[in-house]
Amino acid sequence: MIKLLDKKTADKIAAGEVIDRPVSIIKELVENSLDAGASAITIEIKEGGKSYIRVTDNGSGIAEEDVETAFKRHATSKISDEKDLDSIETLGFRGEALASICAVSRVELITKKPGNRTGRRVVVEGSEILHNEATGCPDGTTITVKDLFFNTPARRKFLASDAAEARRVIDFASRIALSYPDVRFSVINSTKRVFTTSGKGNIHSNIANIYGTDISKDLIPVNLSEDGMTIRGFVSDPGNTLSGRSRQIFCVNGRIVSSKVIEKAIDKAYKERLFAGRFPIAFLFIAIPADKLDVNIHPTKKEIRFDDSVRVEDFIMKGISNALMGKESIPTIEIPTVKPVKPVQGTQLDIKNVIKEDTFEYEEKPRKVDINNVLTTLLKSPDEKTETPVVEEKSVEPATHPFEFDELTIIGAVFNTYIAAQDEDNFYLIDQHAAHERIFYEKLLKQYDSADKAVQELMIPLNFNVSADVGTSEESWIDDIRNMGYDIELFGNNVYIVRAIPAFMEMIEAEEFLNDLFNQFSEHPDLTNRSVLEKIIMRSCKSAVKAGDYLDMAEIQGLFNQLKSCSNPYSCPHGRPVFIKMSNYEIEKMFKRV
Ligand code: ADP
Ligand code: MG
Repeated sequence: MIKLLDKKTADKIAAGEVIDRPVSIIKELVENSLDAGASAITIEIKEGGKSYIRVTDNGSGIAEEDVETAFKRHATSKISDEKDLDSIETLGFRGEALASICAVSRVELITKKPGNRTGRRVVVEGSEILHNEATGCPDGTTITVKDLFFNTPARRKFLASDAAEARRVIDFASRIALSYPDVRFSVINSTKRVFTTSGKGNIHSNIANIYGTDISKDLIPVNLSEDGMTIRGFVSDPGNTLSGRSRQIFCVNGRIVSSKVIEKAIDKAYKERLFAGRFPIAFLFIAIPADKLDVNIHPTKKEIRFDDSVRVEDFIMKGISNALMGKESIPTIEIPTVKPVKPVQGTQLDIKNVIKEDTFEYEEKPRKVDINNVLTTLLKSPDEKTETPVVEEKSVEPATHPFEFDELTIIGAVFNTYIAAQDEDNFYLIDQHAAHERIFYEKLLKQYDSADKAVQELMIPLNFNVSADVGTSEESWIDDIRNMGYDIELFGNNVYIVRAIPAFMEMIEAEEFLNDLFNQFSEHPDLTNRSVLEKIIMRSCKSAVKAGDYLDMAEIQGLFNQLKSCSNPYSCPHGRPVFIKMSNYEIEKMFKRV
């Protein structure tokens, strides 16, 4: 028998679509606060939001006559008819959130419109209005949601642990706070303050407040405007990476989005400067004319689509690449001033972390306590506690400085492996081997692409034995090797004869390199694919140069001049850094001079 469900059951079912866990409630409540024009929003949770959620704002409030309607399904003040759907400027418009939330929890709404003398308090439990009365309260709206899924225990079981739910909430709050820098956000988890932003519009200080100064202090600013597009934000230097993309946050036209196009642009900008499986930190704020975004995309979908994704990708890549050309992108050796942070999966590249692992233990300076603040906080009722002044993380806005090779003075070589150099305020170590690999790689690609090849004839030609399968697939690789500047020809019986090699190579380098190429050809790579070709060349550069070779001053200078003309002098083609630096200040700190 088919029956119509009663309203209560229907509401519970509908609620499940919007509300599946605490963070979805928080998202709806915070979006309502933003739609109400709030400039300060406080989010509080207990037990991951399962037992208690409270969102307080100082927005427009809800009029007395509307307080009950707000909880009805399809009740919204944001659109009135169909044609409004085409010009939505608010985050919400479906009029479903409050109805869904109150169907599965116990809700208290306290609200007052600025200018009204009294506000209203409404209590709703499982969609049933229990109280609606006048109350004294501040301007704005406070919604408390208790006992989530108290009437649908099966759903409650699907929630993760308190800590995991809290993490989801904090992650959402962090992102929304970043994307609304003019709104002051406070987040409190089980009475402990997680973060507070200033609401003063400064993105860098927001990053410091939300993610901590450990992350914010070394970020490199990104700034580029072109063709009506703008990118602003911050990225980490290639020595400061994580094993995932959790700290890559993108905001397009004011909304937090995910985007494969932006991720790809980041990867390309850091190409050759990172090991596989490492991801830089990136907080990117992108503005793009609205007509260049796919308008058909659903407003609640986070994945964004661009009309011309190739152009957007190039633009973002350029913005980041520019930022990475400055001095700040050279990995820094730093001495921690506070207790060492547990390293994030140490790889060789994580120079900062490796150093931090060291046993330096400095006393953390005791925080200055303002006794007046403490007293006023203690004397306030618990409800007012969120109004305590912001303890702002100190955030020094970073800047980029162009890295100038000509300002470097070479001091000499260390362990026959590292070139030591300095400029006005930094000491540099340059890995000879990595530098040479970089030079070798770029020269080879340049030669490959250029019409006239610089070659040197060999007095005594070289012979190369190749495996039979490489020999039979000759037409798939021989032109590529010739393009690099080798004069190579079949001699017979899987033996090739080389009469000339690229001019910039030493004999032994040319030989090792060819050997490596032939080894890789047995896997029959598709050399018509440029990135496959580059990868094979990159791998074959490895054996080209050895560390520990003694270089005299003239040779060091020569290496240096060649490095200077590289398009990416900062890392070898495999992602190891060419340079590391230590500031004069850090050195003085180690000697306890400052
Ligand atoms: P929607 O946001 O889609 O309109 P909701 O169910 O989230 O639907 O909210 C219903 C209505 O309640 C909103 O249209 C708005 O008028 C009012 N409202 C909800 N939260 C707030 C708030 N924090 N401040 C002011 N008005 C609010
Ligand atoms: Mg809403």
